[in-house]
Order: sequence, then structure tokens, then C-alpha cells
Amino acid sequence: MERTITVPRGILKAIEDHARAVNPEECCGLLSGNDGAVDLFHPLRNNSSDPKSRYFASPEDLFEAMREMRSQGRNMLAIYHSHPNGSAYPSQIDIELAFYPHVAYLIQTLAPEPEIRAFRIEARTVSEIGIEIVEREWREVPALSAAASAVARTEEFVKPAPAVIEEPRVSIQEEIVTEVPAEAEVAEPLPVEVVEEIEEILAAPAQPVVEEPAGFIERIIRRVRSWL
Ligand SMILES: [Zn+2]
Repeated sequence: MERTITVPRGILKAIEDHARAVNPEECCGLLSGNDGAVDLFHPLRNNSSDPKSRYFASPEDLFEAMREMRSQGRNMLAIYHSHPNGSAYPSQIDIELAFYPHVAYLIQTLAPEPEIRAFRIEARTVSEIGIEIVEREWREVPALSAAASAVARTEEFVKPAPAVIEEPRVSIQEEIVTEVPAEAEVAEPLPVEVVEEIEEILAAPAQPVVEEPAGFIERIIRRVRSWL
């Protein structure tokens, strides 16, 4: 396992700026790249109901970030968030919700001095890793456009379907509802497989409607929210 993560200086500055912009709430986001070297910055909105001490990434932003990563051939390398008034060390909750042993958890503080540190968290064991700062080109994938396009896709999907009923592919719709374990582990961000399933649904051309398309969407959204 890599003991350092390589991050462009500009992205470290962008994380600090994000933390300041939402202070006193926590910011959150993802970093992606290849071979341990980050070059894409994905700020996400914090949808937690208690954003001053928790972070839960907006599902819409998360889907878009994952999609963008894959389309750009990048891997998720780090999850960052801020502790506006805490130390740059994972909290108990951070440790309990750390389901990605192969990504780095970056924590930014602002006070008394801005500081960022990186950790691996595996089986509730925290080990600090180094941040290698490089001058390298990087790019931000903004969260706002992400939200807009996710909404557009959802609206497209819930448009009334044509009356023609093809073979009753009880299909993806039922599959996703039944395959998902009732008490899915709460993970942040969403497991890649889940994102892929949701994407499949959103990308699917006019599904033969078995029943209540809007109800189905609501069920999915409710289920997704329960994971966050
Ligand atoms: Zn935290």
C-alpha cells in the first residue's frame, strides 16, 4: 500500500479555500488520478443535517464525480473533508465510516493554523501517510453543474412512458430494489457498484413501465439517502 499521496499544490489550496468557503460547516470532496498521483479535484456539497460536525456528500454530486472519474479514466484516490474547529485527525465517526482502505483520507483544519494531513484507515486502524506536493496541472470538476445534470437526467427518466408495454422486464427496477440489502452498510461515498446500478437505471432507455414510475424513483432516492 502506498505510503504517500501526490497532490498538486493548487489542489491543496483549493481544499483549503473550500473549507474556508463553507466554514463553520465541514466541506467534503474527492480527489482522483492515477498511480497515487492526483490531478482531478471534485468538491461535493455537504448534505449532512449536522454539517458543522458531520459530512455526507450530496448523492447527486457523488454520482457525477464517479461518472466523471470513470469517463476520464481516473481512480478515486482520496476523500477530503474539513474539521473547522477540530484537529487534523480522523474523528471516531470518521474512523467508523471509513470503508475504503485503499484511499487516503485528507483532513483540513483552519484554526489555529490551516493544516492538512493524510491517513489510511483500515479495520479502524489509522496510519498517517505523507502528502507529496507537486507542481502539476490539475482540473476542478465543479459540483454545481453536476447537480443540474443529475436533476435533468432524473426528470427525463420520470417523463410519462409510452403506453406500449414490451416484454415485462420485471427487470432492473425490481432488481435494484431487491438486490440491495435492506440494511446496507452506511458508506461514504457510495460504493462504486451502487453508483453503477443507479447509473444503469438513469441511462436506460424508456423502460417498459410495470407500475408507478414516479413511485419507483422515489423508492430509489429514499434508498440512496438511507446509505448516506
Ligand atoms: Zn471528520
